[in-house]
Amino acid sequence: MSDKQDLRSLSYDKMRQTMKDIGEKPFRADQIFDWLHSKKVSDYSLMTNLPASLIRKLVQNFEIYETRRVQVFVSGIDGTRKYIHRLNDGNVIETVLLKYDYGNTVCISSQAGCRMGCRFCASTIDGLARNLTAGEMAGQVYSVEDDIKERVSHIVVMGSGEPLDNFENFTDFIELITDEHGANISGRNITASTCGIVPKMIELADRKYAITLALSLHATTDEKRKQIMPIANKYSLEQVLDACRYYFDKTGRRITFEYSLIEGVNDGAEDAEGLIRIARSVNSHINLIPVNPIKERTYRATSRNAALALKNKLEKNNINVTIRREMGRDISASCGQLRRSFINDTGTGDQNA
Ligand code: SAH
Repeated sequence: MSDKQDLRSLSYDKMRQTMKDIGEKPFRADQIFDWLHSKKVSDYSLMTNLPASLIRKLVQNFEIYETRRVQVFVSGIDGTRKYIHRLNDGNVIETVLLKYDYGNTVCISSQAGCRMGCRFCASTIDGLARNLTAGEMAGQVYSVEDDIKERVSHIVVMGSGEPLDNFENFTDFIELITDEHGANISGRNITASTCGIVPKMIELADRKYAITLALSLHATTDEKRKQIMPIANKYSLEQVLDACRYYFDKTGRRITFEYSLIEGVNDGAEDAEGLIRIARSVNSHINLIPVNPIKERTYRATSRNAALALKNKLEKNNINVTIRREMGRDISASCGQLRRSFINDTGTGDQNA
C-alpha cells in the first residue's frame, strides 16, 4: 500500500472534517464526495470544479487507491462477468457481476487472500496478503458499473476474504456505499458473509445496519465443523448460533445460512436432521451450495439429485431453503479460484496481464 491515506475511504463526515483541517470550505467535501462516490471518477484531473490549489493539497495528503480492471471474463451462458482488479501495490483481487432479474449484483472481495483456512476454499490457500480499504471495496463496485455502463443495485460481500476479520474497513465500506451523498445503495440490498467470528458478529449487530448477515454454516455439529472450518475450534456452534439470534433480535434481518454440500462429508441423513434443528432455532433461510471443487483438494459436490432430495426434505419440514443457482460456470470458478489462476499464470500479481 502507499504511505498516503486512501481519499476514497473517507466517510462524508471525515471528508468534511478533512476540509476543515486543510483550511477549505465545507462545500468542497460535498464536491469531492460527489466526484468519488456519485460520479465515480478516480482521477483528480476530471474533478473540474475543484481549484488547482485544493487538488495540490489533496495530492500532498492523499491517494485515490485504484482498483484497476486488468482482466474480464464474460460468461456466454448467463452474462456473469468475472474481473481481476489490480490494486496500487500490485496485489490482485477478484470481483464478480451476477445479472439477476431484480438487478445487477456485485460480489466483492474484502481482503486480498484470507487467513481463515476453510478446507474447501481456494481464497485461503496462500494466506492473507492484506486487508482491503473501504475505498477499494467500493472501487470494485464502481469499476463494474463503469464496465457495464449500468447501475449496480445489490452487493454481496462473498468474494475472497473474511469481512469481519477486516471489521473497521468493512463497516466503513457499508457506511460509505449506503451514504445518500454518494452511491446511496440500500443496506437492505447488501449481504455480508462470515465464517462466524462471534465477537464481531455481535459488534456488527449493535451497529444496527439494515444489511443481511450470511453465516457459513457448512456443518451441523462442532465435531464436523472443526474438520472443515478452523474457526470452529475457536467458537462453538452454539456460540455462533447465539450470535445469529442476537443479530436477528437487533436488526430484524433474517439470517442466511450458507451450506456448501460436500459429497459424503455433510450431506447425509443426520446432516439434514441437524439443519432442520438449527433452522428451527434461528429466524433464517438456508442456501444450499453444491461445493465448487478446487484442484488442491479432493472434495466433490453432492449430486444434483441428492441436493434436490435434501431440499425437499427441508421443505417438508417447513424450512425456508433454496439451492444456489450456479452462474458463470464456463468462466472459471469463484471463491479465490480466479485470483489463484491469475497469479499462477502470470507469476505474481504484479505483472501486466
Ligand atoms: N469469509 C466469508 C466470505 C467468503 S466466501 C465466509 O466465510 O462466509 C462466501 C461463501 O462461499 C462462504 O459460505 C464460503 O464458505 C463459500 N465457499 C468458499 N469456497 C467454496 C467452494 N469451493 N465451493 C462452495 N462454496 C465455497
